[in-house]
Amino acid sequence: MWYENILETIGNTPLVKLNKVTQQLKGTILAKIETTNPGNSIKDRMAVQMIEDAENAGLLKPGGTIIEGTSGNTGMGLAIAAVVKGYRCIFTTTDKQSKEKIDALRAFGAEVIVCPTNVEPEDPRSYYAVSSRLEKEIPNSWKADQYDNPSNAKAHYEQTGPEIWKQTDGKITHLVAGVGTGGTISGVAKYLRERNPAIKVWGIDTYGSVFKKYKETGVFDKNEIYPYITEGIGEDFLPANVDFNLIDLFEKVSDKDAALMTRELARREGIFAGNSAGAAVMGLLQLGHSLQDDDLVVVIFHDHGSRYMGKMYNEDWLRERGFLKDEKLTAKRLLKR
Ligand code: PMP
Repeated sequence: MWYENILETIGNTPLVKLNKVTQQLKGTILAKIETTNPGNSIKDRMAVQMIEDAENAGLLKPGGTIIEGTSGNTGMGLAIAAVVKGYRCIFTTTDKQSKEKIDALRAFGAEVIVCPTNVEPEDPRSYYAVSSRLEKEIPNSWKADQYDNPSNAKAHYEQTGPEIWKQTDGKITHLVAGVGTGGTISGVAKYLRERNPAIKVWGIDTYGSVFKKYKETGVFDKNEIYPYITEGIGEDFLPANVDFNLIDLFEKVSDKDAALMTRELARREGIFAGNSAGAAVMGLLQLGHSLQDDDLVVVIFHDHGSRYMGKMYNEDWLRERGFLKDEKLTAKRLLKR
């Protein structure tokens, strides 16, 4: 038995019980481990969906150029699909992203333009603005626009949600996921809620992002916006793919707690996951007191630890940020809860 190409291996990712890091919580906690996708992240799913929907709509034509502002994982999915399908890729990203992520995109032949992080989205230097300009300038190009493209959430409505429903035999009670574009949480939640409207949906946000305040007050508060370290989640604007009606609440996790919990996942569970998995588990620990014995929680682990070797898996990086001295304390705090 074989697959016709690497894209056919996307999806059907494993659900794995967490046995140590969440032991202080009631209920069963399962991680949906998206690292087995060919690009090592959940974003492969929506990348292929966006491309195929664009092909079907006549927006992306043979020999065309795919353009996107991406923090790496979406770019990886798009780059792999572009290799298989014969497109050129140009990505804009920010100088906050791991060097490993950028090098990985280039490994697949994509062109990557690195833009400054600390400018407004409307600033002509921002990675949003540069990608929009390139789309206008380059003939036969198509911008994937993961933030507002409905194919993003649709991929998770059609694939990730049904997988989770089937794998838990419909017994899932809580969904926990980091929120960036919102595609993952909104698509999965839509599918699950159609099956069981009682399922709780908890979005994980970062300090420096607007989501939590917006959900709680309906106000887009610019004072919430400041630079942060955690990658992949939190935003300084409201993407169309975040369906606030499907998300019961947002929980913010600090950069330090997210980084240290990411390390704990490797050390205690043997799961080598990315920064947003640590953030999601930490958010669950912050919120989890309300869980009951028969609750079944699914936490999304979006990407792989290899992308963060220069960051939370690097002791110098941790030390420079004053995170390392807290590592033992975090372990103790976790065990005590
Ligand atoms: N974690 C990581 C590592 C990501 O790259 C992303 C995508 N930005 C997310 C979480 C959030 O997923 P989504 O964009 O579907 O909300």
